[in-house]
Amino acid sequence: MDLKKASIICALFFVSSFIAGHSIAEKHHSDTPSFKSTKVSKNIWMLQGKGGNVAIMTGAQGLLMVDDDYKEMSPALIEEVRHFGGLDKLTYIINTHWHGDHTGGNFALGSHAQIIAHDNVRTRLLNTQEIKLFKMVSEPYPEKALPDVTYAKSMTLHMNDEEIKIVHYANGHTDGDSIVFFKKANVVHMGDHHFSGFFPFIDIEHGGNVLNMAKNVKDILAIISDTTKVIPGHGPLSSKSDLQDFYNMLIGTSSEVEAMKKQGLTLEQIQSKGLSKQWDSWTDGFLSTETWIEIVYNSLKSQ
Ligand SMILES: [Zn+2]
Repeated sequence: MDLKKASIICALFFVSSFIAGHSIAEKHHSDTPSFKSTKVSKNIWMLQGKGGNVAIMTGAQGLLMVDDDYKEMSPALIEEVRHFGGLDKLTYIINTHWHGDHTGGNFALGSHAQIIAHDNVRTRLLNTQEIKLFKMVSEPYPEKALPDVTYAKSMTLHMNDEEIKIVHYANGHTDGDSIVFFKKANVVHMGDHHFSGFFPFIDIEHGGNVLNMAKNVKDILAIISDTTKVIPGHGPLSSKSDLQDFYNMLIGTSSEVEAMKKQGLTLEQIQSKGLSKQWDSWTDGFLSTETWIEIVYNSLKSQ
């Protein structure tokens, strides 16, 4: 096996671990079961554990959580909730999409709160899901861990003197992505429509596509402001300009892959040619360039 193949397989294992729920050592994720808490606004915090970033909004009408990390992070997450008044205060959990690094906490927290998600998230979690490429299988979730309230296009919660808009953006990272806008606080939780500073995973087998993701991000950039606080699915608390950089990378790398594909190059040939140097830093933290090229190539193929 050559080195390149080994690195691809390594990266695939990385991805499957990332979404299947096994803890792995990563630069941007801690291995200890605890959360790093960052204050985002007067009453919104971002919690970084092992999986997707969690947001918590506090207030007189209770706690609202966006995503709830891997299953094994639940004891640490419950400890965090205790700081904000305890599980009795937990009112809503929003699942931005079905992946286990964003919904694993549903098992421990689901009976304490209403879980809200896009229609397709409940359907996915009701059934066995398989990501063949990574040999990853997600077993059906029990009723208590399933979304109770689902929506098709958008919905709005009025809570804690805040207007929380939950909007479905189609076929970007998966087929059931929600973006959560906190209007007054000027904060957005991007779910996995934003990996801040590194190549994202896109779940093509479950409706994701790089070009749709880019289009969705472009639409979001058009409605947020320079001062909007951007909570990415993965990576540090970010700004509109970080999201703009992510968009530029999606567009820039896709057009490079597309140009090579139009010249008749195979996936393997494009992988061995690689992308232009300007994208090198995006390999830092998660996916190799080869794996990213494969995701982009397969997205273009499915268009
Ligand atoms: Zn995801």
